[in-house]
Amino acid sequence: SVTKTHTLICASTAVLIFQTSWQQVLIFAGLSQHFLFFPLASFPDLRKHNNCMASNLTPAIYAKLCDRATPNGFTLDEAIQTGVDNPGHPFIKTVGMVAGDEESYEVFADLLDPVIKERHNGYDPRVMKHPTDLDSSKIQSGHFDERYVLSSRVRTGRSIRGLSLPPACTRAERREVERVVVDALSGLKGDLTGKYYSLTQMTEKEQQQLIDDHFLFDKPVSPLLTCAGMARDWPDARGIWHNIEKTFLIWVNEEDHTRVISMEKGGNMKRVFERFCRGLKEVERLIQERGWEFMWNERLGYVLTCPSNLGTGLRAGVHVKLPLLSKDPRFSKILDNLRLQKRGTGGVDTAAVGGVFDISNLDRLGQSEVQLVQTVVDGVNYLIECEKRLERGQDIKVPPPIKLSK
Ligand code: ADP
Ligand code: MG
Repeated sequence: SVTKTHTLICASTAVLIFQTSWQQVLIFAGLSQHFLFFPLASFPDLRKHNNCMASNLTPAIYAKLCDRATPNGFTLDEAIQTGVDNPGHPFIKTVGMVAGDEESYEVFADLLDPVIKERHNGYDPRVMKHPTDLDSSKIQSGHFDERYVLSSRVRTGRSIRGLSLPPACTRAERREVERVVVDALSGLKGDLTGKYYSLTQMTEKEQQQLIDDHFLFDKPVSPLLTCAGMARDWPDARGIWHNIEKTFLIWVNEEDHTRVISMEKGGNMKRVFERFCRGLKEVERLIQERGWEFMWNERLGYVLTCPSNLGTGLRAGVHVKLPLLSKDPRFSKILDNLRLQKRGTGGVDTAAVGGVFDISNLDRLGQSEVQLVQTVVDGVNYLIECEKRLERGQDIKVPPPIKLSK
């Protein structure tokens, strides 16, 4: 019986060693643990989803990309997590995925290219080139009727090349973004002179006041943000820089390394855009002076965290009172045809109150800043005309879909 027990122990030890070494062989070979499963065993359940990632992620693409990573180690599963966890959004069709770094757009191109094509109205990032135009003097009729337009705003994002984006950055990288940006912004002069306010040094009351006045990003409550890993370590290295007038503002380390914003009360969109262009060029110059540059290439334009913001990253919008038009069943169709998007006045995650909407351009990529701002100017003027006709009891027309210059 001693020999029997001995044999048993030897046998089980042999099995154990065999199992362990099999796993170790895989690990030594540079293959990750989950390689022990077939790739498709990890394919996400997307049956209830309606975001762009879900409509383009096939099992074949998943199998091809699931074991790839960018040089910083960002994986496909990390890129799509926010879209897996958020099947849909009540107000807009979301993209459902993010980039962790500039290289994500290359490494995961098999999925990102069709997602970009769907989100950006057919723009093909493999063959098309994106134009940039920051000459605000070209804008026509850029002053809205202020009985309807309460405030005007233009924003974009810019990323610092060489540092990972918010879904993937380390604490050190996030702090480096803050250091580089705040140092550069100290060089702004004249009406753009301002100061940085770090979130970690702000009181709760000061922060809430900035949010309520529409100057600062919301608390990290949006599941689109948290599920993408962008709220990690909050509020470490986050903050807002603004000029004295609070008409030129830069958010640091929210969804993007930076968001550059020009805004003011009233309807002077042309003036808002003029300050936006001037300030943005100045920020870029100051960043470059310090040896850094923005992520950019000619196919994708400015590279940002969310594929929906590629190209110009530009969202030009107004808070506009449309109590009658917004109750008309044709409202959504009119917005679609004018290539406009509506949001609530508290930001992307809020519903509209009292007939006041945030109306902005739907497109970001394939058209220049000037073209997009002109689309908003023409579209919002059309909406105001509709509202006035409805006030007088006259009928309105759904305009034909506007032709996009390619
Ligand atoms: P973004 O696309 O810039 O991230 P959000 O929808 O998240 O915009 O909103 C961010 C903040 O900007 C919110 O407080 C929102 O109310 C404010 N905002 C957006 N557009 C305007 C505008 N035209 N006038 C005033 N505030 C605005
Ligand atoms: Mg936002």
